[in-house]
Amino acid sequence: MHKKELYLVYQPQVCALTGTLCGVEALSRWQHPSLGFIPPSTFIPIAEETGQIEAIGLWSLEKSCEQIRKWEQDNVYVPIVSVNMSAVHFCSMDLPEQILSTLQKYSLAPQRLTIEITESVAMRQDPETASNLKAIRDMGVGLSMDDFGTGFSSLSRLAQLPLTEIKIDRSFVENFENNISSLVVAEAAINIGKRLGIKVVTEGVEHEAQETKLQELGCDILQGFFYSKPLRAEEIPLWLAARPSRRASRG
Ligand code: C2E
Ligand code: MG
Ligand code: MG
Repeated sequence: MHKKELYLVYQPQVCALTGTLCGVEALSRWQHPSLGFIPPSTFIPIAEETGQIEAIGLWSLEKSCEQIRKWEQDNVYVPIVSVNMSAVHFCSMDLPEQILSTLQKYSLAPQRLTIEITESVAMRQDPETASNLKAIRDMGVGLSMDDFGTGFSSLSRLAQLPLTEIKIDRSFVENFENNISSLVVAEAAINIGKRLGIKVVTEGVEHEAQETKLQELGCDILQGFFYSKPLRAEEIPLWLAARPSRRASRG
């Protein structure tokens, strides 16, 4: 896997009430010279096993921060970029320093960055992971629990974590129309987030009916093909321009 074959795409996240851009999620893509496009669901698990995932995490962090600056130079304001970090990365005590130095390199306030973790990170009990999570939050960087509802997190552990956001997995939204239990889980997750005082994002929104339901349930932020597929950096200004009445904001 050569770094020049990797690139990032950015998927808009919108405020559920106003439709304004409140951030983007950075997602890695791998274009192999002979094998063609390889999806992250294939190469991320391989990179985790081969020890390359830390390098991918750092590369993604660096590129995302650089991109926020580049957009800003073009008068495009993207409030927050969310970067996915693998559980493996949390064993490294260098992680907080790496994040801090990248933010400083691009003169970015820590609030412009959110780190997405999976339930496997959140449930780890080792002192390195706990100390990394705390250091990242103390810095002012956001911490989001990705794919919420797919693992087996203990709710008491969830409440102890220094999270700023939970992301409800798209499998729940997919089944909204014909599966009442998915709706119940989404509603419960939104209420947990509210009671914990943290933002709730739902991913995988593909239809207006799902948007309406999530607005009714009080979800804060929505992400999915209904708004946009993940875009190349240069497509973000075009996407924004096609939504003229909508300014960027994040509450
Ligand atoms: P994720 O972090 O949960 O990212 C959301 C995935 O849902 C993305 O898949 C996105 O393209 C897809 N998605 C968004 N909206 C919709 C929708 O409306 N419908 C459907 N069907 N799908 C939607 P993608 O880009 O294939 O990424 C898959 C997973 O690979 C990510 O899930 C994340 O766990 C992992 N991943 C991607 N890039 C990175 C990375 O740089 N580092 C790490 N550690 N993991 C990454
Ligand atoms: Mg994610
Ligand atoms: Mg997810």
